[in-house]
Parts: sequence; structure tokens; C-alpha cells
Amino acid sequence: MATDSGAGDPDYQRNLQLLRELQLSGYAEAGLDPALFLASRPRAEFDARMLDLLKTISPGVSEQALREQLHKDGAESSGAALTEFEDPRMLGILLRFAKQIEDGMAPGKKLPAQLLFGTVPSGRVNAMAVRMKGSRYRLIILDAGLFGFANLVAKAVAAALPVTISDKSTSYSTLPAEVDRRLASHPEPLARFADVILAYVVGGNPQRAQAYLPTPDLVPFSSSLRAGIEAFVVAHEYGHCLAGHFDDSAETQQFGMMPGAERILTDWQKEFEADGMATLLTLKIMTERGYDPALSLIGADLFFACIGLVYETVSILQTGQSRTEEQVRARSHPPPALRRAVIYEIMKQAGAPDEAYAAATDLSQAMSRVTDAFWAELEPQLHRMHAEGVRPAPAWQDELA
Ligand SMILES: [Zn+2]
Repeated sequence: MATDSGAGDPDYQRNLQLLRELQLSGYAEAGLDPALFLASRPRAEFDARMLDLLKTISPGVSEQALREQLHKDGAESSGAALTEFEDPRMLGILLRFAKQIEDGMAPGKKLPAQLLFGTVPSGRVNAMAVRMKGSRYRLIILDAGLFGFANLVAKAVAAALPVTISDKSTSYSTLPAEVDRRLASHPEPLARFADVILAYVVGGNPQRAQAYLPTPDLVPFSSSLRAGIEAFVVAHEYGHCLAGHFDDSAETQQFGMMPGAERILTDWQKEFEADGMATLLTLKIMTERGYDPALSLIGADLFFACIGLVYETVSILQTGQSRTEEQVRARSHPPPALRRAVIYEIMKQAGAPDEAYAAATDLSQAMSRVTDAFWAELEPQLHRMHAEGVRPAPAWQDELA
């Protein structure tokens, strides 16, 4: 965090300089104009979407009061972006989760390092931690398209699940027959899902997917999916930090051509540890925000499912084939399917009530049914696209390496 504390701090400035260089080279390599990338998230559209969302989740509150709230949120997050290449609103959302995690730490417990979050069009769905030699900060680099991707995927999946929403509560049918019936009668979410995957993998920017507003009845569910993804991604990095993975003694590798910049290396064991801590932190912060425990992990679950599908999409478009076992094993992060299983296992071990655990895993299975159905439609299409010469955007070239 500590985004506002470093104006006169050379250590902080050094990290900002590194981030700015990474962003400049990242956008250049990806062939993206940062101005266009940011312009593709017009503020007015964002505000309209947020207002719509606020209206849905705050029945009975005047539009004027909601507009004021929105303005306040905007002002609070305006200092969030570390550089001019970022969307302060998006980082504002992340930093509120980060603050919630830091505020919730036991008194006297100090983080081993200070985290700074920044976005770069990296073509990597997993975050990367970088440190400057001797710095007390760790720069957490997220893909610039990641949260736009999460938002669009959350909307598509929310629209595909049989959800019934009344004034007071949201209920979902997780019965396979009802999930199938909804999928058969609602073909639009599938098209939306394919659109965002292809916009991200082929177009290099999920915001190239056609923009649309979800129907208001779906907003509470899609926004809880999205919040769950954002919370987990932030919590995962805090998990690494709290577990000591970002300590000075961490194994590192020279990072690109930047003098003094090192990428912090992790292994599967550390990734599982970070996921475990992130699960506990996510349950805590989502509960504090009033989400049902059964809904708190579904975002993380969906995120892992989508990471898996993005990898597969890159592989099929690049090589015409799914990834080999060997390619899966060689990755820095464990296979998404394993990570999905681990979060529910941790939830159980952490003493979640049987009912909440059962509801969470039930919903997870219904969601898998949806993403499996999406994939069954998309996969043959990807093979045809590969045969026609369609390839992933340049930023994804390393993803299979
Ligand atoms: Zn990690």
C-alpha cells in the first residue's frame, strides 16, 4: 500500500520509476497505445455502470445520494494510481481491499515488506512480484487487462446461472437440470464469454469485447463474483508477503534489463501457501463486507477456472493443441483445477459451518457446469480459428514458454 506516503522517499520513487519503465516497454511490446488502452475505459461509462450497480444494491436511496457516494469514492481513489498509465478507479478498488487486509492485521504485527500494486500489459494472468535491490517495497505487477477480464467474465457467468433475486435475498438453483435448462434457453452469456476470452487472448485487451450493462437483477450476483476475484487476487499477494515469501532472503532472478530489479521466484508449495492464506483473508474481508460465506470464494474459484481456460485458449491458438502434461508441470503456478480444490479444502479446515461449506461447493459445481458448457462450445471454434491462422496477441507469446 503506502501509495501516498512516498513523495519525498527515494526508495519509493525508484520503484515508481521501475513501474513506469515496465509500463512503457510493456505497452510498446504489446503494440498497445496506453492512451487508447485507458481511453477504452471511458469514465462516463464507468460512472454510469457504477451508478446502476449502486441503485440495484441500495434500494430506497436517492439517486442524488448515490451520485455523491460515487463522487466520494472517485475522490478517494484518485491518488491510487502510482503512474499515469493506470486507471485510478480500478486501483482504488484494489487498494480498498489491501487497506482492509492491513487494517485487519493483529496489532503489532508488521508486514515483512510494503506492497505497491501496479498494472502492466504483461500477458500473464498471474501476478508477479519484483523488488529493487535493498528496497523495502515489493512491486506487485498485475496484468493491465486482468480486472476488466474478471468483470466481463463475472457478468457472463452470473447471467448463465439460474439465479432468482427478490428484494431481500438472492437464491440460486444449483440443480444440474436447471443449470442446463437455463443454458439452453439463454445463449447470450455464452457469446459474451467467448467474446471476452477472444478479446483478451487475440485482441490483447478484454475491453475490446463488446460493452454492455448487465440486467439489473444480475448485478448483485455478478458484482459479488467480481469482488471475490479482486479480493482474492490482492489477498494472494498479501499471503505471500505474510508467509515470508517476499523476504530479503527470497530466491530471485534478474528482471529484464533493469539494473537492480529482481523478480521474486516462488514454487508450487509457496503458491499453495499463498492461496491458503488468501482463502482465509478473503473469507474474512468478504464477510466484513456483508457477503454470504457461500459466496465469498466463488469469485476465486471462477478466476481459477478462467485462468485455466485462458491458458488453453492461448495453447490451441498458438499450437493447434491443448497443453501437454509437461507444459502444465513446468509452470510457475500449480494447475488451476488443483488450486480450486485447495481453497474449498482450506475453507473446511478453517472451521466453516457444514452448511456454508456445502452451499459453497454446490455453487462451485453449478458454476463448473456453466464454464464447462461454455468451453465445449468455444473449443472447436478455437481449433477452426487456429486452422485459419488466428494467433494469440504478442503479449501472450511467453505464456507457453
Ligand atoms: Zn503467487
